[in-house]
Amino acid sequence: MIVMKFGGTSVQDAVAIRNVANIVLRERERFPLVVVSACAGVTNALLGIARKSAEGNLQEALAAVAALRQRHFAIAGELFKDGRRQSSRELAQETIDRDCCELEKLAQSLAVLKELTPRTLDQCAAFGEQWSSLLLTHELLQRGCEACLVDARAVLFTGNEFTRATPLFDLTDAKAKEIFLPLLQQRKLVVTQGFIGATPDGLTTTIGRGGSDYSAAIFGAALEVEEIQIWTDVDGVLTADPSILPEARRIKQMTFNEAAELAYFGAKVLHPSTILPAIQKNIPVRVLNSKRPEGRGTLITSAPAASSQCIVKSIAYKERITVIAVQSSRMLMAHGFLARLFEIFAAHQKSIDVIATSEVGVSLTVDNADNLEAILAELRRFADVRVEHNKAVFCVVGENMKSTRGVAARVFAALDRAGVNVELIAHGGSEINLTFVISEAQIAAAVKCLHDEFFSNVEGNGVFE
Ligand code: ADP
Ligand code: ASP
Ligand code: MG
Repeated sequence: MIVMKFGGTSVQDAVAIRNVANIVLRERERFPLVVVSACAGVTNALLGIARKSAEGNLQEALAAVAALRQRHFAIAGELFKDGRRQSSRELAQETIDRDCCELEKLAQSLAVLKELTPRTLDQCAAFGEQWSSLLLTHELLQRGCEACLVDARAVLFTGNEFTRATPLFDLTDAKAKEIFLPLLQQRKLVVTQGFIGATPDGLTTTIGRGGSDYSAAIFGAALEVEEIQIWTDVDGVLTADPSILPEARRIKQMTFNEAAELAYFGAKVLHPSTILPAIQKNIPVRVLNSKRPEGRGTLITSAPAASSQCIVKSIAYKERITVIAVQSSRMLMAHGFLARLFEIFAAHQKSIDVIATSEVGVSLTVDNADNLEAILAELRRFADVRVEHNKAVFCVVGENMKSTRGVAARVFAALDRAGVNVELIAHGGSEINLTFVISEAQIAAAVKCLHDEFFSNVEGNGVFE
């Protein structure tokens, strides 16, 4: 058994959905469970509809519902235009139409209430994955496969932290075995949604933006599949973000630890939690390009790559970071200072990404400004606090960095030559990464100079393409 997850661009229109069906059919003998995201841009549009309605822009919201209905109708029309496929077109369009009517009613009530809760946001966001999975299932059925669509909300159970719900692993594991396994064993092609789940009492939840990767890994771990495939729009995990650096190279193989660090520090190609279920069951994850299915992609396993000559594997960054510098000469050396500091962040459920301490202060980063005012007010009761926005956390990752001298010197010398100012450094927390903070405006310069330093003159060594 394998899990095959297809992201938004892989199912963005009729051509893409047909292509996905081809890719899935080639893997038929491996009993695939297919997990799909919403068509590209649809989740944003659905969340936009909810927000516009609650702001009182009902006309705009209804126009956006009409556009979504039209887009999905057009995909169904194109996929099933042949007369023999008419039944699929009608069934798919009926369901999409019914859902859009429900969405219109939701929009109308939000416009009256003028209040938007995370619970309602999830109710709106969940339509996208339902439509894309429905369209793909019909395409597979029309190709003569025994495909069946399973609503992920009957399998992926979560807590009620709407918009970023935590999976209830024991229940989900049991449900995945109970529902998916018999279907797969009957050689059915099972299609389900990523990203969405439900509380045990049946309320729709989502597990966070980009969460379809995580759904795929959770299902894969529950079924103990032989491989989790993440199909996306690039050739695999690359040495840097290709939207900033088009010459970024494909990494052929990397370890779970390297992939986890990269995902956590912003490499959008994998949701940050994806790797954890795979690590627990030691299941290889392969990142592949649905536009070039013949490629080998990136294989992520527990084994280090054979070559030891590659020191740095990849570079990632997170934007829109806030740095909080806390200074208190009186308190800092007193025991309990750091504990008190962390307690404040914990009480506001705010996670800290990077931290550096000195005799006079502690600097740390957080990745959004939610609850920040309340945290700052508490900190200011016992310390001077300075806040800086528009920063970026950079992360240089490589399993061999720990055993190689001079990596930090090369990183900072390269940044210096490029005129990039480094503001905060953390090294050693994890042995395989070097993390530092720079100004957001210098992201492109930093990516370029580090890439030149570590990748441009490096032979592939079996690690890069
Ligand atoms: P999907 O919709 O398939 O889940 P995403 O947009 O979430 O796709 O993730 C793929 C994108 O991640 C790529 O198009 C690329 O722009 C971005 N990305 C950022 N860093 C990296 C990296 N190191 N390697 C590959 N892609 C990256
Ligand atoms: N459709 C969801 C999103 O856009 C989940 C995903 O694509 O993984 O965030
Ligand atoms: Mg994604």
